[in-house]
Amino acid sequence: MENNTRKNPSVAVIGAGMTGILMAIKLREAGITDITILEKADKVGGTWRENTYPGVACDVPAHMYTYSFKGNPEWEHRFAHGSEIQQYMEGVSAEYGVTDMVRFNESLDECHYREGKWHLTTSKGNQMVVDFVVAATGILHHPAYPDIQGLDSFKGDMFHTARWDHDVSLEGKRVGIIGTGSTATQIISELSKTAGKLTVFQRTPQWIFSVPDKDYTEADKAPLRGNQSLMTKLSRRYAFMMRHTFTAAVTGSKMAHALISWLTKRNLRKSIRDPELRAKLTPDYKVGCKRLVISSKFYEAIQRKNVHLETTAIERISEKGVITADGNEHELDVLILATGFHPFNFMRPMNLTGRDELPIDTAWAKKVQAYRSLCIPGFPNFFLMLGPNTPIGNYSVIAMSEVQAKYVLKLIDHWRRGNLQTVEATEEAKVRYNDYLKAGMGKTVWVGGCQSWYLDPDGDPAMWPYSWDQWVKELEEPDLDDFHRATPAEIVPIHPAEKAA
Ligand code: NAP
Repeated sequence: MENNTRKNPSVAVIGAGMTGILMAIKLREAGITDITILEKADKVGGTWRENTYPGVACDVPAHMYTYSFKGNPEWEHRFAHGSEIQQYMEGVSAEYGVTDMVRFNESLDECHYREGKWHLTTSKGNQMVVDFVVAATGILHHPAYPDIQGLDSFKGDMFHTARWDHDVSLEGKRVGIIGTGSTATQIISELSKTAGKLTVFQRTPQWIFSVPDKDYTEADKAPLRGNQSLMTKLSRRYAFMMRHTFTAAVTGSKMAHALISWLTKRNLRKSIRDPELRAKLTPDYKVGCKRLVISSKFYEAIQRKNVHLETTAIERISEKGVITADGNEHELDVLILATGFHPFNFMRPMNLTGRDELPIDTAWAKKVQAYRSLCIPGFPNFFLMLGPNTPIGNYSVIAMSEVQAKYVLKLIDHWRRGNLQTVEATEEAKVRYNDYLKAGMGKTVWVGGCQSWYLDPDGDPAMWPYSWDQWVKELEEPDLDDFHRATPAEIVPIHPAEKAA
């Protein structure tokens, strides 16, 4: 089948965050014109729109946390601040004409597959019928509120980190923060400078790896302007370093793990001189078992005079503050919940049913799984970007989305050429793929006896346990035998030199 006779599918992209923007750009590059983007909020940006807490930044180097086709010479810091990334996302989205395509303040409520098409109903009651749905809904966007007795009885101000209340002034106040994950450590580093008293309620200590931040000067930025290949080189250099250190360390390389462990433990030893405080901050699990926190500021912050690290378990919340198991009541003006997210909700609570009216909750009743993280058997022509087992250590999520986007585009292209009547992975392929993932978990550090958001309710890490290069290689070309094919007709190959568009 020639290019000009390819079917032109209609595609709905759900979410205009980093992945949704990328998908819209790539779909258009592939010559697909019938694209609808639904966004629940009033702006693009996803996680960077939602997380506006003090100190919010990306702990992946900025030049690596960019789209490969659109470097940003204007990054102000080695670890870009949240507002810079939001600005970058808005800029790319506008430049590539994505923003104009987005239907803002409109979420997808109903999504049902019937007779070969997806039937959608949005929060505004609008209906549409499309060939493909791409859920670019992100992973960490459903705030997890702690199940602590009396939480609602607190009379002061209280909010989750992803729902920051900027009307509440924290200067000079008695502030409590529950949690010590990547989010909390960024907030603590910042708030410790202004809060009257900051009490950190730590349930489990975290390993902290220090990489100093750097303010980029005009001299750093000037050579990058208009020089995409230089920015690509820079990005690749960071990516190479990340792959061979952090990613290798968590996925089985003993040498990389020994190095990262040594540096992390040395950071704790050198930064915290008080043996009692050091003991409180020392985890009893392997470095990297929980997602490694990258911070060069946290240890300094936790030692400030106005900061108290509380390690006694929280018993309940009172009107006045937090009551710990030793009977102490920590009186607070503001309580911040840095208690993370529900990582297994993905596109839910959307009412999603696939073939034969199969609800997603039924498909995932036993386990949240997908084939190659993207395709869920029973849900034809539906792709879940950054789905289960996508996250790869401390790597750039943008790079992950780009690899997945290429794979999805190739599958859609097979559909356009008639090689696949629908794009639906078989149950057998999904099981085989997930068995393969499980077989690799034993050598990773995630099964090192710690609790983390990486683990599903069965205690299995929803991660990719092999190398980054392996992941990229396996997503290079879809294996059509892993998909339902009504007619095992001759496959029309995609010629490498042929542009998709
Ligand atoms: P998180 O890593 O899941 O941490 C949640 C924290 O809350 C943990 O310290 C946890 O303690 C504590 N907690 C939860 N429920 C509690 C309870 N009932 N009582 C006491 N403590 C409780 O969440 P996060 O810090 O928001 O980070 C989530 C992920 O977001 C990160 O791992 C990272 O992937 C991403 N992130 C990335 C960046 C970046 O710079 N790229 C920045 C922020 C976040 P336990 O450890 O005992 O469970």
